[in-house]
Amino acid sequence: MRFDLHSHTTASDGHLSPTELVRRAAEKGVEVLAITDHDTLAGLDEAAATIAAESLPLRLVSGVEISTGWEHHEIHVVGIGVAVDNATLVAFLAEQGRRRRERAEEMGIRLEKCGIPGAYEGAKRLAGSGEVTRAHFARYLVEVGVADSMQKVFKKYLSRGNKGYVPAQWPEMAAAIAAIHAAGGRAVLAHPTRYDLSTKWLKRLLVAFKGAGGDAMEACLPQQSPSERANLGQWAEEHELLISVGSDFHFPQPWLELGRGLWLPKRGRPLWLAYPELFGLSAADFAVADATP
Ligand code: AMP
Ligand code: MN
Ligand code: MN
Ligand code: MN
Repeated sequence: MRFDLHSHTTASDGHLSPTELVRRAAEKGVEVLAITDHDTLAGLDEAAATIAAESLPLRLVSGVEISTGWEHHEIHVVGIGVAVDNATLVAFLAEQGRRRRERAEEMGIRLEKCGIPGAYEGAKRLAGSGEVTRAHFARYLVEVGVADSMQKVFKKYLSRGNKGYVPAQWPEMAAAIAAIHAAGGRAVLAHPTRYDLSTKWLKRLLVAFKGAGGDAMEACLPQQSPSERANLGQWAEEHELLISVGSDFHFPQPWLELGRGLWLPKRGRPLWLAYPELFGLSAADFAVADATP
């Protein structure tokens, strides 16, 4: 069964609408898709409606990617299988939205001081009705010719230590995990190798995440070496975390596609085997696959 449990839509910084995203996922052979927009559940209704209206052969899992803070790092926690009407989670995400808007305004002020006016308005325009992220600022800065790629904008302006960077007051991992659990979901540490941590610090993060109540970690990401994936599977086992897989799709790129290249490492137990009900599945759904040598 082909899973992709990390993806974005225009509800945050993805480029495809929820409708376009689920159509593309089905086309690419994804069978179970989690939409995990930054700090919002807003894309899920439209995605579910399109799947139903067009009878797409795709199971949708309600997800979210929550920004948190740990030891001066921004750590992303993915919630999988959350109830979208849960009052605790809804209130938690409303607060995240407030933090995002405050940070965005402050980023606009800082960029203006760097001689780039109108960035807040530009980022807001690109975000439309979705949550404003640094990716929208980056797109705006590319649009007005400040740099020729998003990477360069992040490097020069938007990553930690740069002129346009505003440290956000994100909550602790444990608070995000508790909100996900309150909504009946499971908490997954997103893209562990993208935090620029040494192995020693990454293992510290895994200990802290497990200690904060975390359930799983992403072990399979696109563009990853086989040894990195094997290590993540092994570390997941050692830290008693389940494993998850996700493309972190924002828009199609030659090297990144929904559901592509997310084969499992030898070690590590997948989230869906431990919690099939989160995916509307039962153990019987895996019996055939498990029997295959
Ligand atoms: P935020 O959640 O508002 O801090 O925005 C972070 C988002 O910006 C991430 O989810 C990525 O989509 C995007 N991003 C972060 N770093 C880079 C980068 N170096 N190049 C392009 N996009 C990036
Ligand atoms: Mn993003
Ligand atoms: Mn992320
Ligand atoms: Mn993401």
